[in-house]
Formats: sequence, structure tokens, C-alpha cells
Amino acid sequence: MAANKKLLVLPGDGIGTEVMAETRRVIDWMDKRRHVSFSIDEGLIGGAAIDGAGTSLPERTLELAHAADAVLMGAVGGPKWEKLPFAQQPERGLLGIRKNLGLFANLRPAVVFDALVSASTLKEDVVKGLDIMILRELTGDIYFGEPRGIETLPDGRKRGVNTMTYTSDEVERIGRVAFDLARKRGKKVCSIDKANVLETTVMWRGVMESIKGEYPDVELSHMYADNAAMQLVRNPKQFDVIVTGNMFGDILSDCAAMLTGSLGMLPSASLGAPDASGRRPALYEPVHGSAPDIAGKGIANPLAMILSFAMMLRYSFDMGDDADMIEQAVQNLLNAGMRTGDIMEPGKAKVSTDTMGSALLKELDKLAA
Ligand code: NAD
Repeated sequence: MAANKKLLVLPGDGIGTEVMAETRRVIDWMDKRRHVSFSIDEGLIGGAAIDGAGTSLPERTLELAHAADAVLMGAVGGPKWEKLPFAQQPERGLLGIRKNLGLFANLRPAVVFDALVSASTLKEDVVKGLDIMILRELTGDIYFGEPRGIETLPDGRKRGVNTMTYTSDEVERIGRVAFDLARKRGKKVCSIDKANVLETTVMWRGVMESIKGEYPDVELSHMYADNAAMQLVRNPKQFDVIVTGNMFGDILSDCAAMLTGSLGMLPSASLGAPDASGRRPALYEPVHGSAPDIAGKGIANPLAMILSFAMMLRYSFDMGDDADMIEQAVQNLLNAGMRTGDIMEPGKAKVSTDTMGSALLKELDKLAA
């Protein structure tokens, strides 16, 4: 039996609780059937935490998060809390936990499953077999740089200011994550910048060049952000790992997500810096939100959440074979024609959240036999 893994589970709000329930069944399955054991704490975040503890991010949740090897989160938010002042809204809890854990690297795989190739708005031959990773720096850049604000000029005009800023150590830190990821994938990193107009990114490019010698097995290329947006829809399969700053990453990761055409299928991971013992804070969550329009109906697609757990196995616990098995089980279900409403196509079988979860467990049983 491998060492016990300590998880914090934060179901959150809306469909977060529904897709987490199915993921808990997969965790239990892993616990019983594979060489791993999980001890699980459950905590409050978002609207559920506002209702249960008076704040979207209770101290207790942070304590549990720091004590855990990894955090698995559903989604937060919903109409019930929309009228609260901005600083008290459920989404502040999510931003708060990311900040508190120092999660600077956001990993978003964009994978097109063969069975869902027609869900993309792009032509089949452009996206079939797509498997790329967008790595976005999450804690720096123009979103956090100072000075910032809106001022009134002496002549009455307004002036808005934001500052794009990175330090070389911040770039090096995210750059190393990119090279390490590429080593486990297709051994190519494309670094995205605007080094033709922005000095910050001239520095970014220089840092990427300065560390590439340490990864002789990985090929490094550079691309301007505007070209990258174009190339992502023209020929996305040319990429393996894309690494970029917070703002370009915000835009390009959504663009890449939509190559797959299905929000209910997209997992993500956010990683922090390892401590002296090599333990790295990590939070795994689906890209989608709490989907109030379908919450409580039992029809949400649980696969993005379950695939987020697979990412946890791969990136926090080095259990790549088990992650592969979950991904294979998902692929088999889709090939067999099982679909939740969000990915429904004519001629396929429309199933509920828990039916999809049960079918996945059966598929795992078959693969493990
Ligand atoms: P959303 O992702 O919740 O939903 C967008 C659309 O996609 C909806 O029609 C929804 O029904 C559908 N959808 C999303 N996930 C699905 C799934 N797993 N299965 C089937 N259909 C799915 O985005 P939104 O509607 O803009 O936001 C709703 C709430 O979620 C807001 O309060 C928002 O702030 C919050 N939100 C939270 C997160 C997060 O917790 N990480 C992310 C995005 C939005």
C-alpha cells in the first residue's frame, strides 16, 4: 500500500456538489482497488461557506488546505449570493484560496476526445487527436502590477492605468514548470509573448532562453501572442506545452478550451512552489462554474471534475498509470455513446450525472480486471 494521501474536498455550490459526489465514488474506487489510500477532509467554500460559516473562505478551510497534500474543488457561486457586496461574494473565496496557497501555475489541458470531435466548432481534421497544455502564470502581470487605477486629469479627462510587470525569478519559476511538463509530454515548449512591443516580455523571452540549456531534451520556441491566437485556431496540433503570462494566458486558455467544444469536459490544476520537503500546494478543479441553470436537476456532466481528480493523481501523486486509466475509462464511455445533455448528439444515449458516474466505475472495473 502506497503512503496515505491526504485530500481536502471542497464541493462548493450548485453543480459543484453534484459532480463532486460522483468524483468521491471514483476516489473510493481508487482507494479500494489500487495501491493507494486516501484520507479525506471535506470543507466549506463559496456560497456554502457564506451560509455555513459567514464567510466565503473560512479559516478552517485554509487550515485544512495547508494540511492536505492536494485540494479538489467543485465550483462556487450562484444567484442566491449575487446581491452581496463584491468583497463578500462566493467567488472571493476561490481567489482567496488560490492566493493563500501561492498557486502561481495554472495548467489547462485542451484534449479532444475522438468521440466528441464534432462538438468543436472547428473542422474535424484540425482538432482530431488534439492534446495540448496551456500553462498560465497566475499571480503576476498586468492584473496585479502597480501603479494601477483611474485618475482625473486637470482638464477633466479620465486616465486609466495598469502596469505589466514580471521579475526574472517569477518567469524562471513558471518556465521551469513548462519544461518539466514538456518532459512528460511531447518535449516542446512554446513561450508566448509580445517581445516586439513590450519590454516586460523581452525580459520574459530572455529568461526562457537562459534556462533552456538545462533542458536539452526539450525544444523551446517563441511566438507573439497575436500570432498564437491565430495559430491556435488554424493549426492547434503544432503545440505541445504553451507557457505564457497571466493576461495572454487568460485569453489563450479560453480560446484553447473552446477548441474542444465542451465546458463539461475540461479539468484544470493550479500549482504552487514546492516546500523544503518537496511538497507542492495544489488545487484541482473543473474549468466550469456552478451552472445555476441546471443545478439540482441531476443532469450535470461530472467528467470535468473526475478528470480534474485524474490530474491530481498525475501531478500531485505521480500516479500517471492510474490517471491514464481514468482517462481511458472516460474515452470508452464516450465511444460507447454515453452523453450528458451538454455533449448530447443525435443517436447517442442521454444520461444523468449519477448514471454517468456509475458507468465510469463499471468501466474502471473492466480496465482493472
Ligand atoms: P458556468 O460554467 O457555471 O455555466 C455556463 C454554461 O455551461 C451553463 O449553461 C451551464 O449549464 C453549462 N455547464 C457548465 N458546466 C457544466 C457541466 N458540468 N455539465 C453540463 N453543463 C454545464 O458559468 P456561468 O453560468 O457564467 O457562471 C455561473 C456561476 O458560476 C456564477 O456565479 C459564476 O461566478 C460561477 N463561476 C465559478 C467558477 C469556479 O468556481 N471556478 C468558474 C466560472 C463561473
